[in-house]
Amino acid sequence: MSIENRRDESFEETLARYPELPRLNLLKTDVQRRGVCYTENVLKNVDKDKYQLTGSNVFFSTLGARDQKNKFGIPEALVLRDGSIVITDATPIEQNPYIVDYRDGAYVLIDKDKVVEEIDFWEKPDFYGKTTSSGTPMDSIIFARPQRLNITPTSKCCFFTEGLPCRYCDLNPHINIDGVTKQKMTPQDAYETVREAIKQKGRFTTLCMTMGSDIGGKTPFDDELQYYIDVLKAIGKNFNGRFPSQVITTALNYDQLSRLHEETGLMSYTSDIEVLNEEKFNWICPGKAKHVGYREWKKRLIDAVDIFGKGYVGTGTVGGVELAKPNGFPTEEEALKNILEEAETLISKGVAVVYIVWVPRPNSVFRDQKNASLDYYAQLTLGLDKLSRKYGVTAEFDDYRRCGNHPNSDLQRI
Ligand code: SF4
Repeated sequence: MSIENRRDESFEETLARYPELPRLNLLKTDVQRRGVCYTENVLKNVDKDKYQLTGSNVFFSTLGARDQKNKFGIPEALVLRDGSIVITDATPIEQNPYIVDYRDGAYVLIDKDKVVEEIDFWEKPDFYGKTTSSGTPMDSIIFARPQRLNITPTSKCCFFTEGLPCRYCDLNPHINIDGVTKQKMTPQDAYETVREAIKQKGRFTTLCMTMGSDIGGKTPFDDELQYYIDVLKAIGKNFNGRFPSQVITTALNYDQLSRLHEETGLMSYTSDIEVLNEEKFNWICPGKAKHVGYREWKKRLIDAVDIFGKGYVGTGTVGGVELAKPNGFPTEEEALKNILEEAETLISKGVAVVYIVWVPRPNSVFRDQKNASLDYYAQLTLGLDKLSRKYGVTAEFDDYRRCGNHPNSDLQRI
C-alpha cells in the first residue's frame, strides 16, 4: 500500500510500523500535523498566572493559527511526559484535531473519545508582564520557550511586498489582520529584556533571533544583517565573549557571514532553505529563488560551516510542503526519496537539516491544501536522523531542549 493511502489509519496503527520511533515522538508529530482543539473546560480552568497563553508576540503566539476565531488567550504549547514540547495551534473541530480536555484535575489529550496522554502546558516565565525602560512589553520582544528566548521583532518580510512570498507563509497577512504592529524593537529593548529574563534561575539555556527577510542595503540583505549585528551586540553586553545563541536569517554571503561571526558573540547560524529540491523551491519560495537562488543558498550554508564550524550551522525545511498541489511531487514515496537524497548533500558537508511539520495556514497561498500522512513524517524523521548520525552532524543549538519544534532533532537525545 502506498504511504499516502494510509492517511486514515489510527495513530496506534501507524506507530506499530515504526518500533524504532519513541511513541511520544510520533505522537508529537501527529499532534502538530492535525492540530488541537481546546474544550471550554480547559479554557475555564487554565491558570493564567501559571501558564503562558497566546498574546502579543508576532511570530509564534498567533502566527498562522488554523482556527482564526480561537487564537488568543489559549495555551501557547503543550509539554509531554518525557519533556517534549509540542508547538501546535488551535484547529477547527471539523478538521479532525486532537482534543485537549481537563478531566479529574489533569489536562489530557483525547483522540476518538479516548485519553491518549496526560499533558501539561508551558509555564509563564518571570519576565512576562514587565516592560523595558522605553515602556515596551518584554513579552512582545521576546517569546519564551521552556529553555529558549526567542527574539522576534515585528518586521514584515520583503518578499510579500514584492508579491513573491513563500507559498506556505502568512507572516505579512498575519501582521496586518491581527494588527500586531509596534515600534521596531530597539537593541536597547532586546538588551534589557534578556538581562531581565536570565535573572530567572534554571530556566533559559540559549536564545534565538529571527524575523522576515529585508533585501535593503548596498549588497542585498545588508540592512537585515546590520540589524542582527546591532541587536546581538547589545544582547552580548549581558555576557562575556560568545554566548549560546542562534539566528535564522536569509542566506548571507561569505563576507556578510564573516561580519556576523566577527562582530557579535553569536554561536550558531541557521538559514532555512525550506524545500530540498530546486524545482519545487523555485515554485514554493519565489522570493528566495529570485534574490538568492537554490544553489547559491546551499553554497552559503556550506560557507557558514567554514566560519561557524561543524555542529553550529543548520537549515530548516517545511516537511511535506514539497507535496503541495499542483506542482509538488506526485507521490509521498518520490518526495521522500528526493528530499533525503538532497538532504545528504548538505549534511555530508556539515550542515544540520531539521524539519517542521507543514501546517497549511489559512492566510497563506497554500491555505486549502493538506499536509502529508503520518507515515511520511515518520519516515522523514527517521531518514534525517540516520543521515545526521552517518555524518556526525548534530544540531544541539536546535535540539529538543532548545527548540523542540523538529521531530528529527528530538531524536538526538537517544
Ligand atoms: S522568507 Fe518566506 S518563510 Fe520567511 S518570512 Fe519571508 S515569505 Fe515567510
